[in-house]
Amino acid sequence: MIIVGVGGQGVIMVSKVLATICQMQGHQVKQSEVHGMAKRGGGVFSHVRFGEKVWSPTIPKGGADVLLALEWAEAMRWINHLRPGKGIFISDTQHIMPPFACRSRQRNADAAYTRETPHEILEQIQDGYAMDATTMARDLGNERAANTMLLGVLSTALDFPAEDWRDVISRFVPPKTVDINIKAFDHGREWAELVHENPDHAAEQLRRPEIAPALLSEAGEHDGDFVQLDINVDWCKSCDICVKMCPERCLKLDDQLKAVLHKPELCTGCRICEWLCPDLAITVHRDPANVKASA
Ligand code: SF4
Ligand code: SF4
Repeated sequence: MIIVGVGGQGVIMVSKVLATICQMQGHQVKQSEVHGMAKRGGGVFSHVRFGEKVWSPTIPKGGADVLLALEWAEAMRWINHLRPGKGIFISDTQHIMPPFACRSRQRNADAAYTRETPHEILEQIQDGYAMDATTMARDLGNERAANTMLLGVLSTALDFPAEDWRDVISRFVPPKTVDINIKAFDHGREWAELVHENPDHAAEQLRRPEIAPALLSEAGEHDGDFVQLDINVDWCKSCDICVKMCPERCLKLDDQLKAVLHKPELCTGCRICEWLCPDLAITVHRDPANVKASA
């Protein structure tokens, strides 16, 4: 099984859960991981191999039975590692746009990002699941539980007891988030079971992810230039990174040394501040519906 995502999404936590639950079932397990950037934005992947006897921890191209992706572009980057015709593909459809994808400093400017849509990919894969896990987890109460929701989907493909999954997840997530993560896990299981019964359920549930504005324009679905920043002052540790890295210089530290958006009219919504904040204190909203959902 290969687990991929970007820094801050919990790829390593997911792979530890998988390795532990495989061990609980009596399998030998080997795991290898590359951490990428310590802060959000860098690619992170982990290989988990289990079985009666495992000789090597790494999985060659075309050799993975499962690709579990927490981010869409990372799913596309690793899709050729999936076993052709047999591998199970599970991905969040959320897009995390790296700062270097921004090609222009205009609001709604074009950005370099993968153009494959979930529908196109699922048409080519026999056993594929693409869900807007981030939005669904946010609707449940915490978007960071998206990774355990995807584990819920995977759990329906592996013959391990659901109680073992819940037990291991409870041990690896922060203690305060156990309830929401178990809820997200169960939600993922239910979603996958509904898809097994009726594949159209996935299509109904597959909400359109945040797509590069230029692609939306091409599709005639561009819905304006809404941008809103939420800065959680309780989480801001005054490191000044966002202030220094904002290309438009529209952030500053206030008298309390907390980050504030002091020139909102200049903000392009590029999300660089969001990805670089080590304390996850900034959320950039590009969709008014998401502001309501996370309020
Ligand atoms: S990067 Fe985050 S922690 Fe640092 S000043 Fe900005 S909001 Fe605060
Ligand atoms: S405030 Fe954040 S989203 Fe706005 S331009 Fe600066 S870095 Fe980009």
